[in-house]
Amino acid sequence: MSSILNYMREIQMVDLKAQYEKTGHEIDEAISSVLRSAAFIRGPEVKLFEEELQDYLSVRHVISCANGTDALQIAMMALGLKPGDEVITTNFTFIATVEVVALLGLKLVLVEPSPGDFNISPVEIRKALTPRTKAIVPVHLFGQCADMEAIMEISREHGLYVIEDTAQATGADFFFTDGSSGKAGTIGNIGTTSFFPSKNLGCFGDGGALFTNDDDLASKLRSIANHGMKQRYHYDDIGVNSRLDTLQAAILRVRLRYLDRHNNARRDVASRYDSAFSECQYIAVPERVPYSSHIFHQYTIRVKDGRRDELRNFLGEKKIPSMVYYPGPLHTQKAYRYLGYGENDFPVTGTLCSEVLSLPMHPEMEDDQLDYIIHNVLKFFKG
Ligand SMILES: *Cc1c(COP(=O)(O)O)cnc(C)c1O
Repeated sequence: MSSILNYMREIQMVDLKAQYEKTGHEIDEAISSVLRSAAFIRGPEVKLFEEELQDYLSVRHVISCANGTDALQIAMMALGLKPGDEVITTNFTFIATVEVVALLGLKLVLVEPSPGDFNISPVEIRKALTPRTKAIVPVHLFGQCADMEAIMEISREHGLYVIEDTAQATGADFFFTDGSSGKAGTIGNIGTTSFFPSKNLGCFGDGGALFTNDDDLASKLRSIANHGMKQRYHYDDIGVNSRLDTLQAAILRVRLRYLDRHNNARRDVASRYDSAFSECQYIAVPERVPYSSHIFHQYTIRVKDGRRDELRNFLGEKKIPSMVYYPGPLHTQKAYRYLGYGENDFPVTGTLCSEVLSLPMHPEMEDDQLDYIIHNVLKFFKG
């Protein structure tokens, strides 16, 4: 099986080069039309992309901005959250989700995820509520929605805002028990996303957006993303400078046309992994919840018996990349010790951090690559 390395394309976690080889000509055209127009800031492509994403998501407003971290910050600013207000989010996420809470002087309240689907646990959210709780920030981790129906119920009961961090789940569907559905990021008050190149809907640099169905909130978000300006040189809000480049918008218009196709290709890879690993007692495949589709930003297994790092090294020797998202709970990071949590306050998060392993996952995966990855993962456990 090792001779296969001689002709197989090198395996990547995300193969942006292969993606460009497939859709590059359309991207090149989009870029050169922007270059010819020289409308680099607030060019027509920005508005067109926002409108196309609105249609795709069935949401009233898409407001583009510079990146997904800014999107979260702008959302919290627009909701008028004040220093000391408590914001509940998951301890098992990318740092961006929590850093904006801390930056704005809000009180960060971390809770455990559910171990099976990795998403924030509504039961744990309820335990963390206080009279000062103002908002909940669910993160749709790895491409599958958190339990938005349960979270919206908590928000209605307690009058809380909900900001969905959709950076890893743009295009995922949430299914309500009444049979209706909505796209990730369009259910809470505000959804935020990132167009970082490796996200499911990625551009060729940084980019982000906010989604909302609330007209007043939309105009506030737009104003804050643009220096707090509604009318030229009149400032109603304290804002920031956070724009999506015209070039990135033009690229994203092409990428959006492929989003569903690419997400389906990711699902095919995931089912191949699932069926290959389902018999392996050392591997827990990612749990699927009935209320969400999964778009597999990551395919993340849990490796039992403390053998995760050993497996990762073994795969590395076979030129198979893998990643640990995320290696440490946020409350133990130096910058967040001020929160005062005890080392062992989050046993679920701690266990996940020691067991999770994300395998290569992208729409351009070739059959021989997938066979090779699966063969080697199983070989590691069979010895
Ligand atoms: C990528 C990501 C972000 C931040 O997006 P940037 O565009 O890199 O700022 C925020 N939250 C989550 C969960 C992410 O995965």
